[in-house]
Amino acid sequence: MIELTARDNTHPVSVGGVMIGGGNQVVVQSMTDTDTADIPATVAQVKLLADAGSEIVRITVNNAAAAAAVPEVSKRLAHLGCNVPLVGDFHFIGHRLLRDYPELASTLAKFRINPGNVGRGVRHDENFTQFIEIARELGTPVRIGVNAGSLDPDVMADKMDENSRLPEPLNSEQVENKALVESALSSAEAALDIGLTDNQIIISCKVSRLPQMVAVYRELSSKSDFALHLGLTEAGMGQKGVVATTAALSTLLEQGIGDTIRASLTPEVGGDRSKEVRLCQDILQAVGLRRFRPAVTACPGCGRTTSTLFRELAQDIQTHIDAKLPEWQSRHAGSEALQVAVMGCVVNGPGESRAANIGISLPGAGEDPRAPVFVDGERIKFLSGPNIATDFIDMVENYVETTYNG
Ligand code: SF4
Repeated sequence: MIELTARDNTHPVSVGGVMIGGGNQVVVQSMTDTDTADIPATVAQVKLLADAGSEIVRITVNNAAAAAAVPEVSKRLAHLGCNVPLVGDFHFIGHRLLRDYPELASTLAKFRINPGNVGRGVRHDENFTQFIEIARELGTPVRIGVNAGSLDPDVMADKMDENSRLPEPLNSEQVENKALVESALSSAEAALDIGLTDNQIIISCKVSRLPQMVAVYRELSSKSDFALHLGLTEAGMGQKGVVATTAALSTLLEQGIGDTIRASLTPEVGGDRSKEVRLCQDILQAVGLRRFRPAVTACPGCGRTTSTLFRELAQDIQTHIDAKLPEWQSRHAGSEALQVAVMGCVVNGPGESRAANIGISLPGAGEDPRAPVFVDGERIKFLSGPNIATDFIDMVENYVETTYNG
């Protein structure tokens, strides 16, 4: 894995050995949607997510059955060789579950608490304190995860009162933003007072709209040095969820904000939960923060190449790379940096192909398919005939074999 850049002005936090913040690479995480008490299903989905590249996996701990199941889930995962750090997602009764199930508390690598869901008034403070004290005793990090959908009503009421006294009151979204940041940072200060360290606290403030999310995280980032967990909550299904998540996370990451990310996609019925992991990886790769797999540069095609040959070639190359990725990752360290170009005609084809590690530039429509292949900027041969795709794939394989053999 190539580590390019990372935000280095936040306190580093170790989550089961995975470092978040403090200049470490931005970490990909995900969350299961199984009933945690269903041990086989939870084990299978955590393994699925971890195998897809999730470096931390969060699981729901919402009742006694889930709390009792977590140690067994962890043991079975270890038996399968899967040691991904598990995070417990707690609301309402987390303080009690952690107290009543000590093995749960000691198994988890991080606890998530939502300050809007730990009770009201005195109860809030007692429950919060009990939760944080357990984290302090165990040395376990905590994410203080505020969410617009469950914002602490007391904090929101205070902010509304404050706002009403201003000569020029803010609009309701601006007030909510202030309340979200205030809830997160005042909770973090309270956790520090109870005895957590800066290196045990991660903050998130999740909302479901991109402009609001960007505004809130900019404010958070300017006001604190805690490691930040980014996520556009309830991003939705299909292309809408992918686009909204990509736009939101990439905007903040590009500004150096964010230490760990999660994509809150809604899978189709029977869909693949691990798509959220792939999306996080693709976002980090697209913004240049990490590399996970070789990149294929392919033009969209236009009237100069009505042939489907280049599309089939681009598709064959992508399919080949996806299939070979696990092998390349284990045998050819550094191959994730490979850049392949598959281009449709001479307008941009030679230039893009030269810029790639290995590229092919088809000649466009109505011409003999005699295509130059460029390796590390040099045109080294022409491919032609019906086997262009397989010949080019062989050349890509040869490039990987000879270049990434350390
Ligand atoms: S490279 Fe050629 S075929 Fe591809 S989009 Fe550009 S002009 Fe069209």
